[in-house]
Amino acid sequence: MRSWIEIPPDSDFGIENIPLGIFRHPAYGPRAATAIGPYLADLAALHELRYFEELHLPDGIFEEPTLNAFMALGQPAWRALRQRLQELFDADKGGSLRNYPDSRAEVFYPLRGVEMLMPVQIPNYTDFYASETHATNVGIMLRGKENALMPNWKHLPVAYHGRASSIVVSGVPVRRPWGQVKGADDPAPVYTPTRSLDFELEVGLVIGTGNKLGTQISTGEAENHIFGLLLFNDWSARDIQGWEYQPLGPFLGKNFASSVSPWLISPDALAPFRTEGPMQDPAVLPYLQFEGARHFDIQLEVLIQGPGMEEVSICRSNTQHLYWNMAQMIAHHTVNGCNLQTGDLLASGTISGPEEGSFGSMLEITWRGAKPLRLPDGSERRFLQDGDTVILRGWAEKEGIRIGMGEVRTEILPALP
Ligand code: CA
Repeated sequence: MRSWIEIPPDSDFGIENIPLGIFRHPAYGPRAATAIGPYLADLAALHELRYFEELHLPDGIFEEPTLNAFMALGQPAWRALRQRLQELFDADKGGSLRNYPDSRAEVFYPLRGVEMLMPVQIPNYTDFYASETHATNVGIMLRGKENALMPNWKHLPVAYHGRASSIVVSGVPVRRPWGQVKGADDPAPVYTPTRSLDFELEVGLVIGTGNKLGTQISTGEAENHIFGLLLFNDWSARDIQGWEYQPLGPFLGKNFASSVSPWLISPDALAPFRTEGPMQDPAVLPYLQFEGARHFDIQLEVLIQGPGMEEVSICRSNTQHLYWNMAQMIAHHTVNGCNLQTGDLLASGTISGPEEGSFGSMLEITWRGAKPLRLPDGSERRFLQDGDTVILRGWAEKEGIRIGMGEVRTEILPALP
């Protein structure tokens, strides 16, 4: 496919991508959009101009504040929209928008300069723990090398229920949280702003259509329920987490904020980047077995930008490093009849690769502060400082096709006084 729109080769949003998001229209407020090359295309305008006539979509479906109503229509509608948008942008298709210059002024905006909004209303958020290196690294720090992985880890994709209300979109700053901590040397708990604020490099999947309470989704069916993938930064206060987490797991050390990228990337766009995951040994129970290549080869990067500094890359990782794939996460989540809902977010957990340089959190990069990270201006980081900006990027690329996920960029504000 070739677009009549000029798309730089390093663009995240070629004609094969067709991501979906929500932007703030200067006159009409939140509206659904896709991105193509350096432009955003207003889906509500295209709908009004009758470019989607044969899709029989409800009126106003792209003028909602989130994509949930469209997501609930199901996979045939998602695929029909994707195909139609590709036709409109295709240089070689008769129905191309190229032939209607009058419409174009109402439809396209330069991506730079538009405000992207939270794309989804998320009813429930679940965070997995699916990278073997991450789980091992954390296990070594907490329990030592011998018992690094818990006995259940290779038998089921471990997860906990997080909090959906504090998930924010890229660009929204995050404030350093206060909390209760007790370090090894503290005689008693202390009330303080966290001293070990961290990011976690994760990828999230958003459920388009869920299941009824009491029913299961099989690994074979699971991917048909995925509307899109996004980048997910699961902010963590390690000192608060360390003191509170036993016996019921993460709570206030995690739920003050998580940040998402604004564009949802469909599994169809990522299909050329399917790949085999790691060999699962011991063999998993039948309900977690699957067929075909269920992992994706998505490159990931974390950059940090201190106040007045250039961005500097501190981590390169890949979704291939996940032990558990998304189909298994969904099958496990519903094996007991738990109902997933439109908009639910399932995050992968921190995606750390096997070697140094591919660790997806400050906790691992600095080994709990023991090996500080040196930045170009000579300053050091054990954990994140106020005024730091953390940027997560993701993209899949081969044979001239690049499917970018965009970025999630967040500045850290000082704690409330
Ligand atoms: Ca996490």
